[in-house]
Amino acid sequence: MINKAIVALLPLIPRSLVWKVSRRYIAGKTLDDALRCVEKLNGAGMSATLDVLGEDTTDHSEALAGEQIYQEALREISSRGLDANISVKLSMLGLKFDGPLCESIVMRLLQSAELYDNYVRMDMEDSSVTGITLDLYRKLRIKSGRVGTVVQSYLRSTESSVAELLSGGITNLRLCKGIYVEPEEIAFKEFEEVQDSFRSTLRLLLENGAQRVGIATHDPQLVLSTLELLKELEIPKERYEFQMLLGVAEKMRGDLVTAGHPLRVYVPFGEEWYAYSTRRLRENPQIAGHVVKNLFRG
Ligand SMILES: Cc1cc2nc3c(=O)[nH]c(=O)nc-3n(C[C@H](O)[C@H](O)[C@H](O)COP(=O)(O)OP(=O)(O)OC[C@H]3O[C@@H](n4cnc5c(N)ncnc54)[C@H](O)[C@@H]3O)c2cc1C
Repeated sequence: MINKAIVALLPLIPRSLVWKVSRRYIAGKTLDDALRCVEKLNGAGMSATLDVLGEDTTDHSEALAGEQIYQEALREISSRGLDANISVKLSMLGLKFDGPLCESIVMRLLQSAELYDNYVRMDMEDSSVTGITLDLYRKLRIKSGRVGTVVQSYLRSTESSVAELLSGGITNLRLCKGIYVEPEEIAFKEFEEVQDSFRSTLRLLLENGAQRVGIATHDPQLVLSTLELLKELEIPKERYEFQMLLGVAEKMRGDLVTAGHPLRVYVPFGEEWYAYSTRRLRENPQIAGHVVKNLFRG
């Protein structure tokens, strides 16, 4: 309750304090900050995916500016010899106001991914763009083997979407629970329902030849059942990777790496850190407790 109240008061908390709390979850404001973070993660046996913070751009110059940072990221990952790919939000690249522009930007990023032997994952945003994102993925995966997207287990449609994708060609997906607030008609609301959907979708992916499946969760129960499933199906390490957000569940992350499982960390960075941080705090009000502790530390 107290944490929820703090979240409600967020707009009154000084940005400097929000930054102090958030920096654990964000690599920094610049690409260089993010690349240094990736270097450390690589040194600790983890790969990474770079996420430039920002969504819902409203004009061409903003969308093209987003592309430029990603293009630079692909160049720098290659020149510094890092183990990282990129995750993009289509709404940052113009999806909501100019679909063809967005598609052409993603195509150019895929060409660069080809050049630098890298990979582009399209994050999944709210349900207003689920269909359009999956359609774009279907179209692009024919043209390039360097593209993947994300499915959310809270959506009632996810299992059938995944079955359809699997029957239509090479499929490369990250599976997560889903972060947006969606209506009950289209989304499971009970915690266990979302977990059940996660488990059955993961089984579907692993049993039907999906390429390296991204298992994106910090839920200890889901990690445990995933480990059991990997064992039961004798899935080799090339066919899956755990994925976690920077700064979250670091102990479990370390345990998985020590046990030899591939693990990728999602590394957000950029000038839009404040909007991202406040969203994270709203999503997980428990973190808000840290804000208060830091307040008293001064
Ligand atoms: C690599 C990665 C990529 C993702 N990409 C997308 C995407 O494209 N689209 C989308 O809708 N969602 C995405 N998500 C978010 C995801 O859908 C969930 O909202 C989020 O991961 C929390 O779900 P959980 O499975 O960790 O389980 P939960 O039950 O929500 O969390 C389990 C435990 O993990 C810890 N935890 C979880 N999240 C946080 C957090 N943010 N900060 C601090 N602690 C936390 C808490 O201790 C919590 O009790 C992604 C998540 C990851 C890890």
